Parts: sequence; structure tokens; C-alpha cells
Amino acid sequence: MSKVIFTMIGSGAVRVNVNRAGPSQLVQTEGNLMLFDCGRCAVHNIERFGYKVHEIGQVFLTHLHFDHVCDLPYFMLLSWNNGRKTPLQIYGPPGLEHFLQHALWEAYEQDIASRTGHGKSLDGLTCEVNEIPDGEIVFESGEIRIGAMRTEHGGIDNFNYRLDTPAGRVVITSDTQYSDRLISFCRDAALLVCECSGTRAFLDQKPWGHWHMTPETVAELATRAGVKKVVIKHLVIEDFYKETGIAEKMAHTISERFNGRVMVGMDGMQIVLE
Ligand SMILES: [Zn+2]
Ligand SMILES: [Zn+2]
Repeated sequence: MSKVIFTMIGSGAVRVNVNRAGPSQLVQTEGNLMLFDCGRCAVHNIERFGYKVHEIGQVFLTHLHFDHVCDLPYFMLLSWNNGRKTPLQIYGPPGLEHFLQHALWEAYEQDIASRTGHGKSLDGLTCEVNEIPDGEIVFESGEIRIGAMRTEHGGIDNFNYRLDTPAGRVVITSDTQYSDRLISFCRDAALLVCECSGTRAFLDQKPWGHWHMTPETVAELATRAGVKKVVIKHLVIEDFYKETGIAEKMAHTISERFNGRVMVGMDGMQIVLE
């Protein structure tokens, strides 16, 4: 039986929240270990939750906002240090190659030169970079297929990911404003891991608020797509209001409008599909 294990590595967002690392998720299938986004403290949490950075084969990036990619250079350098055997495959939006040129190769030029100068091979740091086209299957391995779809988010190139596996469909959203296009993309998903940055009232006050999903739009998407289970993440509102239970209240708002299961994402949360 092919099993899929989803692990929430970081359920938080931009600001420091000691209970939630920045955006990052890990999916383990038979033969594949894949990371989706690599935000603040992702590396720490990957190892904290029992995985090894150098054993992750692919990283898929939703967009280049810093909260989703700030740990990527550390991830790559630590993988190299720890003995990565096969080149990392990185998938992400246009501009990814340019980002790595600056954030890894130029920023860490002295470090890399120091290590290679003492005989360390660049193998394990050199990687395969794939700037993905829209609406395509971006990755296939065995019975796993991963597709990507663009949505609007703050005027930046932005991709949501869908994994089709023998154990069911998993959708991992990016930060995104609501789009009807997401409905067919998420159709019949066993698991929808969806950003829910804040309540409508909260997001209405923010100049960037319309870039994001609210409990109402998450519920509409999940209902219209026939999703079975929703996990909410990217809980920006917690960083503004210290009121406890605010994420649970958002989950409750979703539950009032959607018949499936709703869970608040927590770092280390695992969901097994089989
Ligand atoms: Zn974000
Ligand atoms: Zn963003």
C-alpha cells in the first residue's frame, strides 16, 4: 500500500512567532521526500521532526516572498555540509535562478571558496534549478505527479502545488487571493493545506489584505471543490492579536460553511493518507 505522510514544518508567516516556524511543508511518499517552501526555521524543524535535510530530494517554492525562502541558502549549505549524495532539484517561479545566484553563490562566495579550497567537492551543493511553466505537470516520479497553478498574490509570480498520489490528492496552496480557478485545481482533494491569513475584518484593514484568503473564501473553495479535509496555515493574524484561540475561531468559521474536517495547522502535525 502506498502511503503519503504530510508533515507541517512551519505553520506561521512573516513575523517571528516562537510557536510557529515560517511557511514550510514536507511530503514523504514511497521513494520521495519533498519540501514545499523553506521559510524561517524550516531547517531546524525538519530535523526536529525526524527528517534529514540532505535526504530531501526536491524543493518546490511557491513564490519568492522572503518568508517562504529565507532558509533556503541554509538548507542548501547544510545539505552540502552533511553529505548530500544526489543533486537537489529545486522548482519555483521565474527568477529562481537569479535569486540563487545572489542569495547562495554570491552571498556565500567566501564560504564556498574556503571549503572547496580545502578539497571539498562542489557535488552536493550544485543543484538542478527548474523555473516552472504554468499549468504543467512539473514533476513525476513513480506514481506521483505534481502540477502547479498560478494565482494572484501581491503582483509576484506565484504557484500553488497539487500532488496526485495513489493515496489521494493533496493541494498545498501558496499565499493567494481567492480564484475560481482554484476550484478545479483542488477538485476532490483528500487534503487541502490552505493559507488563511486572517479574518475578513482584519484583512480589510491591511493594504495587502486582499492578497490573501479568509475563512469565508477557504470554506467556499473547499465546498465547491469537494475537498475532504482542510488544514489552515500562514496565520498572520496571530502575530497582530495575541488573543488565544483566534486561529481556532477562524477554523470554526470555516466549519460553519463547509462539511468536511477543518484543522488548524501546528508545527509537527502529521497527516497520513493511505
Ligand atoms: Zn507568506
Ligand atoms: Zn507572500
